[in-house]
Amino acid sequence: MNAITNDVIESLQSTLRGQVILPDDSDYDEARSIWNAMIDKRPGVIARCSGTADVMQAVQTAREHDLLLSVRSGGHNIAGSALCDGGLTIDLSSMNSVHIDPHARRAYVEPGATLGDFDHEAQAFGLATSLGINSTTGVAGLALGGGFGWLTRKHGMTVDSLVSVEIVTADGQRLWANADQNADLFWAVRGGGGSFGIVTLFDFKLQSVGPEVLSGLIVYPFDEAKSLLNQYREYVKTIPDDLSVWAVLRKAPPLPFLPPEVHGTEVVIFAFMHAGDVEEGESLVDPVRHFGEPVGEHVGLNPFTAWQQGFDPLLTPGARNYWKSHNFAELSDGAIDTVIKYVGTLPSPQCEIFIALMGGEANRVAADETAYAHRDVNFVLNVHGRWDEADQDDECIAWSRDFFNAATPYAMGGVYVNFMTEEETDRIGLAYGSNYDRLARIKQKYDPDNLFHTNQNIKPSS
Ligand SMILES: Cc1cc2nc3c(=O)[nH]c(=O)nc-3n(C[C@H](O)[C@H](O)[C@H](O)COP(=O)(O)OP(=O)(O)OC[C@H]3O[C@@H](n4cnc5c(N)ncnc54)[C@H](O)[C@@H]3O)c2cc1C
Repeated sequence: MNAITNDVIESLQSTLRGQVILPDDSDYDEARSIWNAMIDKRPGVIARCSGTADVMQAVQTAREHDLLLSVRSGGHNIAGSALCDGGLTIDLSSMNSVHIDPHARRAYVEPGATLGDFDHEAQAFGLATSLGINSTTGVAGLALGGGFGWLTRKHGMTVDSLVSVEIVTADGQRLWANADQNADLFWAVRGGGGSFGIVTLFDFKLQSVGPEVLSGLIVYPFDEAKSLLNQYREYVKTIPDDLSVWAVLRKAPPLPFLPPEVHGTEVVIFAFMHAGDVEEGESLVDPVRHFGEPVGEHVGLNPFTAWQQGFDPLLTPGARNYWKSHNFAELSDGAIDTVIKYVGTLPSPQCEIFIALMGGEANRVAADETAYAHRDVNFVLNVHGRWDEADQDDECIAWSRDFFNAATPYAMGGVYVNFMTEEETDRIGLAYGSNYDRLARIKQKYDPDNLFHTNQNIKPSS
């Protein structure tokens, strides 16, 4: 890999419509900051592209000059793979338009759009697709890894709503990939991450959702955690796809509906959204309100766009983050005991354990139908190590790792690629699972020199 030379910079400056940002520029530090403040990479040049032509040009420049290349869309990836040290970062954050065709029920989305951008446009027509739970996340990275959130049980993974992509491949050419054109590539980008090229436009199917949805939080004291989680695991076996209920264990934030004495103490939070008839939702969720004696609840009709932002205050950019994740078929006694043990020793007020409920429509797709392979997962467990000061790094990282290791015996072995840290290269095979070999063959066809490798990388089969 070569360093960034004046030739490279002049070539980009003379050919791009967008901005070329260099280390001495006043906006360089802003341009290289991403969601996870642990990441402190310094690209040699940032090409903030304005359109597909810019992306094609930037890829050709990277290829001709043999440059290290990274791709940034929403900048949320925990591993910091959006940036690279000393190379060329192709920054798509300015390409963030979302165009909705309400009659065809389709969304045409540029890669820099966030989930909030998408929901804002789609909800103007009472439409949505299955995305994630934090509105500042990028659509691009989320969709390319699989994508799940409140609508996943009803409408499947984000990739299951993908109809077509425009993609710039390693030769700098623009292709369409869908069921009819470059179908192998289309299969690969639905869960294979960023290894195959740079997606410059996503075409998604849309569904009617909201505009208001029954949703909310039901909060319990931590000392009832064992009974609560035992009831939760049985209850979720009985609920229909319209309903999703997740469990979050952490110290209580100062939410206005919680008594002040609860703030800062460990709690079990059940967060839910029902994407169907309101009365039916009320009766379906009622058992969760009677798992024990809640210390507070905030349940009601909320605009879908507001609920999609419900967790934003807990997931703001700028904190230091170290996450680990496991897939689970079931919440066994051992898994529950391990969660409870580690929530009892949270090293910072922001550390938390998230249990996301999967299943439903996401699991009715065959494992080889898309590159996202984990169609038998019922829970994704995420440990969010999160804190503010660098001097807490060791303690918070150790807590996250210790919890992850202790929970491993109860997990399935697979992992959601979008929740992996930079150091987890040994888990890449587990992330792509049974689809890895097919992905490697497609990689060999479209990117034999592995130009796109600053990601949870699929190596070309040789
Ligand atoms: C606070 C938070 C909440 C989250 N919640 C959820 C959730 O509810 N559900 C869920 O499924 N995931 C969730 N995630 C994980 C999320 O899906 C990943 O972090 C994802 O990578 C974010 O995409 P991005 O575009 O913002 O990332 P970026 O950091 O910009 O990109 C990540 C990587 O994706 C690839 N990439 C990005 N754009 C392109 C492109 N246009 N073409 C080709 N490759 C590209 C590149 O390899 C890049 O390094 C969450 C993450 C965070 C930090």
